[in-house]
Amino acid sequence: MSLHEFLIAMPKVELHVHLEGAVPPATLLKLAARNGIDLPARTVEEVRRWFAFRDFPHFVEIYLLISRCLQSTDDIELVALEFLRDQAAQQIRHTEFTYTPYTHLIQKGLSIADQHAALNRARRQAEREYGVTCRMIFDIAREVSPEAGLKTAEAMVALWSTPDHGLAALGLGGYEVGHPADKFAAAFALARAAGIPLILHAGETDGPASIRAALAQGAVRLGHGVRCYDEPALVAELRDRAIPLEVCPSSNVCLGVVPSLAQHPLPRLLADGLTVTLNSDDPPFFDTTLTQEYLRCADAFGFGAEVFVELVATAVRVSRLPEADKARLLADIHTETAALRRQYGV
Ligand SMILES: [Zn+2]
Repeated sequence: MSLHEFLIAMPKVELHVHLEGAVPPATLLKLAARNGIDLPARTVEEVRRWFAFRDFPHFVEIYLLISRCLQSTDDIELVALEFLRDQAAQQIRHTEFTYTPYTHLIQKGLSIADQHAALNRARRQAEREYGVTCRMIFDIAREVSPEAGLKTAEAMVALWSTPDHGLAALGLGGYEVGHPADKFAAAFALARAAGIPLILHAGETDGPASIRAALAQGAVRLGHGVRCYDEPALVAELRDRAIPLEVCPSSNVCLGVVPSLAQHPLPRLLADGLTVTLNSDDPPFFDTTLTQEYLRCADAFGFGAEVFVELVATAVRVSRLPEADKARLLADIHTETAALRRQYGV
């Protein structure tokens, strides 16, 4: 089917994907063997089956075991490099990934500065060798204490003034209910004072109040935000302020945020004029990739090529790249996409 072929070949941008939630099964097996960690899976196929989303506790169990497999900064660098290689293989030209440094600080005592240096080496190498640019979002997991959140913010402030740091924003992830964004007001105030943007998950596991709390903290972009429809005035505000939403359809279906892909609000968000990007979140857990998300949305919603072209252009515009880089990337993608549309007749 030529639309599918076009979607596989088209240049893409991804803004919402978690590095620890995107470790390729083969990389995980390699790390587990290297670090003597016993996994409940021995082959790539078994890891895939083990990864398949069942429920939230299973998801957390996998997440923690993956984090345990990352024992050293070399492991972190390897995972980031292989992730970026796989992103490039999907024709992703720019990606912003989320990473939770505090987990590795408390689990293994790896300093946030050392973790950052490892990720930044991978970022530079991937840009040279695979032609994919990248920016990093260091996030706070909502479940940790406000003091732990402050530690991540303080580390980021120190890194923010270093040259070519590759950081995009301070993030917030995890379970929303019982952990409103204001819990980390001190961390966010510190980041804002240093000029660090805030990109916060909200409107995924909780509704409009959580989105409003994230906006009140000064979020410039929202992870998910799809539960805004519980409050029409909020939808209007998100549209009027052009707050970008990082929409992750398969993740929403797996986590029960929406009952099925067919009932996902993505087409409605686009029709209502909101600023929307399409993303994979934790791809192997949700048995997806960014390309798969494109193909599934094409099939589920009957989107034509022009919808995906616009989604990619929006992702470039709301990325945290400098304006000159955005303009160059948009122009490159425009030229390449136009040629591909002629080639595939879409
Ligand atoms: Zn996420």
